[in-house]
Amino acid sequence: MAKLDETLTMLKDLTDARGIAGNEREVREVMKKYIEPLADEISYDGLGSIIAKKVGKEDGPKIMVAGHLDEVGFMITQIDDKGFLRFQTVGGWWGQVMLAQRVTIVTRKGDVTGIIGSKPPHVLSAEARKKPVEIKDMFIDIGATSREEAAEWGVRPGDMVVPYFEFTVMNNEKMLLAKAWDNRIGCAIAIDVLKGLQGVDHPNVVYGVGAVQEEVGLRGAKTATYKIEPDLGFAVDVGIAGDTPGITEKEAMSKMGKGPQIVVYDASMVAHKGLRDFVTEVADELNIPYQFESIPGGGTDAGSIHLTHNGVPALAITVATRYIHSHAAMLHRDDFENAVKLITEVIKRLDRETVDKIIYE
Ligand SMILES: [Zn+2]
Repeated sequence: MAKLDETLTMLKDLTDARGIAGNEREVREVMKKYIEPLADEISYDGLGSIIAKKVGKEDGPKIMVAGHLDEVGFMITQIDDKGFLRFQTVGGWWGQVMLAQRVTIVTRKGDVTGIIGSKPPHVLSAEARKKPVEIKDMFIDIGATSREEAAEWGVRPGDMVVPYFEFTVMNNEKMLLAKAWDNRIGCAIAIDVLKGLQGVDHPNVVYGVGAVQEEVGLRGAKTATYKIEPDLGFAVDVGIAGDTPGITEKEAMSKMGKGPQIVVYDASMVAHKGLRDFVTEVADELNIPYQFESIPGGGTDAGSIHLTHNGVPALAITVATRYIHSHAAMLHRDDFENAVKLITEVIKRLDRETVDKIIYE
């Protein structure tokens, strides 16, 4: 693989870090390393979300840009007497992408490698072979021979289990393959927006946030928003790419490389119309590509942001990504960079009067 530039190194560090909901410490530390030098102040909410404050003008409108730290993974619930691990999914998983995948159990004594197993097809009836294996019938095999041995290695109930995958720049160097794009790309956007505002004169206070526990119900965004009390909020996340075989335009229209997605509707929120219009006008003015998206079967942290306090106009801006909620997902570097550019340019154009106009007109 080619040598990684500064941006790719950050993306690798962010996606390599391990953190399911409620276990985000390692990811938070990586995000802190990158965002702290760009911020005036770092703080945390009570659940562990990281909040990096960058002041343009101290009493200016507060703008929140939030990605979430947690990734989908699993949690150990039991160790059986033969040393196999039973687990709980944490975040949405589809059984068909789980079998025979390598995972890492993060224990207090260090990492333990495992593989998700099931009964082999060779012992199944012809009828049973046609059906997908249910998640409740899967287990994690760490090569232990007894409960005692697994415990000796440090494994115990409550330990997080994360997908194992190596960050890869593909032959087409714009195509990036990694675990946990959902939602380390959002964390990266929040970091690079603050980077884009270095030395820029603007009358706002910008908060780059890494929120915890999105995958289990948009929880950290609620507490972080409560602490910040923003005037406007952006959730940055992955969205669905509709450009693989078998997906019809009716199901998902977005294509990788065609710009960030402006989410007009999802199960958690109706996009704030004033903010949506303002953002697309900026994109049009600067010829930044974008795509409209609706996700009736999913939500983002904007769903929590907009319902905090007395209501916060919010918008989700997402990066079309293939194979989310699996071991490895793929996205296009240009979409990431254009999302950063768009949000940065929007913030440069905001001030109290403009924000009031967006909210009240
Ligand atoms: Zn997700």
